[in-house]
Amino acid sequence: MKLYDINFDSKHIWHPYTSMTSPMPIYPIVGASGVELELADGRKLIDGMSSWWSAIHGYNHPILNQAAIQQLMKMSHVMFGGITHPAAINLCRKLIDITDNKLECIFLADSGSVAVEVALKMALQYWQSLGKKKCHFVALEGGYHGDTFGAMSVCDPNNSMHSLYEGYFSKNFFIQAPKYSFYEKWYPDDLISLKKILNKYADKIAAIIIEPIVQGAGGMRIYNSNYLASVRKLCNDYHILLIADEIATGFGRTGKLFACEHSKITPDILCLGKALTGGYLTLSVTITNRHIADTISKGKAGCFMHGPTFMGNPLSCAIAAASITLLMNSPWEKLVKDIEIQLMTELFPLKDQPQVADVRVLGAIGVVEMKMPVNVPELQRYFVAKGVWIRPFGKLIYLMPPYIITNKQLSKLTQAIRDIVIKQNNK
Ligand SMILES: *Cc1c(COP(=O)(O)O)cnc(C)c1O
Repeated sequence: MKLYDINFDSKHIWHPYTSMTSPMPIYPIVGASGVELELADGRKLIDGMSSWWSAIHGYNHPILNQAAIQQLMKMSHVMFGGITHPAAINLCRKLIDITDNKLECIFLADSGSVAVEVALKMALQYWQSLGKKKCHFVALEGGYHGDTFGAMSVCDPNNSMHSLYEGYFSKNFFIQAPKYSFYEKWYPDDLISLKKILNKYADKIAAIIIEPIVQGAGGMRIYNSNYLASVRKLCNDYHILLIADEIATGFGRTGKLFACEHSKITPDILCLGKALTGGYLTLSVTITNRHIADTISKGKAGCFMHGPTFMGNPLSCAIAAASITLLMNSPWEKLVKDIEIQLMTELFPLKDQPQVADVRVLGAIGVVEMKMPVNVPELQRYFVAKGVWIRPFGKLIYLMPPYIITNKQLSKLTQAIRDIVIKQNNK
C-alpha cells in the first residue's frame, strides 16, 4: 500500500477552511526535523510558518522528544477530576514564574479556542458572582480568537462570516481596530471608537478581549503599544475586565516573552496556546488572578463551570514544561531580534513594488500585504518548487519561522517571497 493516498484524502478528509467538493491542492509531508518539512517524494522544504505559530524550536527536537517519551512511559493520560500529577504541577509552576506576578490561577484546556471560551466564561461568572448583569463583550474589528461559538462571536464579524450563524450568536460590541502602527507616533484619537461604546454600555460589558500588539489571523496587523496601555487604563476606569489573547503572540514571537510586555500591562485574564507545547500537542491555558478566581468560586455555582475530558493531559503538560525550559535556556531574545533585523532588511525593499500595499515586521513575524488577494494554490506551487513552505491567505504573504532558523534558511524564504512579488508585478 502507498504511504499516502492524496485521492483518499481529497475524497474523505476536511482540511481547514477548504471545500470538500473542490479542495485546494495539498502536499503530503512524511517527516519534519529542525526547520525542514519532508515531502513524500523526498524533497525538503524550509518551514516559514512554524505550523501556525507553534513550532518555535523546530520539529523533532531531541529534548522535546525525550520529554514526551519519558512521560509516555509513565502515563500518557489520566483524568484531572480528583487527580493531579507532577506534569501539570511542574508546568503550572513554570507558567506562573514566567507570566506577570498577579496571574496565578491556571485553567488547563485543550486548544486555543477552548482557552478563549474559558476566558469568556470566567468573565461572565465573575460578574454574575458580584450580582452584576454584565454579559456582553467588546472586541476589535480585524480580531481573531478561534473557531468555536464563543470565540467566533468575538472574531471580526466579516472575516469569520457571522452572517452564516445569524440568530445564534449573542450580540457583542465591535470597535475599530487601532490605526497607528507599532512604529508610528500614537495619538489618543485611536480610542474614540472604544470610548463611545464604554460611555454608553459599560454597565453591560463584562470584558474586552484583545490580541496584544499583533492582530494575527484577522489580518496580521501590528499596532501601537500605547493603544493597549490605554485600553488597560480604560478597563480600570469603567470596571471592565481585560482578556489578553496571547495564543499567537506568546512565548517570544514578538520580541518580548509576552506581547503585553510591550505596553507594560497585566491583563485580568490571559490565554496562551499554540507555542505552549513547542508545536507538539494541542494544549492551552487560561490564567487569571486570585481575586477573579476567588470571586467566581464564591458565586452561585461555587466553582468555575468547565472541565474537559482531556484537561491537564500529562503528555501535553510534560512537553509544554520541557518546551518552556528549552526556551528560557535558549538565547531566544537574540534569535528573535536577529530574525527581526533580517526580515526588515530583506522584506522592507518590497514596499516600493507597485502591487505591495505594506510590509510589516515585528520580532519573528514578517508580513507582505499585497493590494489584491493572491492566488494561494499558484503561490504554494511556486514556493514548494523553490523548496520553501509558505502559506499565504487573502492579500497576505507572511513568515513566522521557528526561532532556530539560520540566516541562510531565512534568506531562502525571503528570496522566494521577493521573487513571487516581483513576478506578480510583471503579470
Ligand atoms: C490560533 C488562535 C486561536 C485559536 O486557537 P486554536 O488552537 O486554533 O483553537 C485563538 N486566538 C488567537 C489569537 C489565535 O491565533
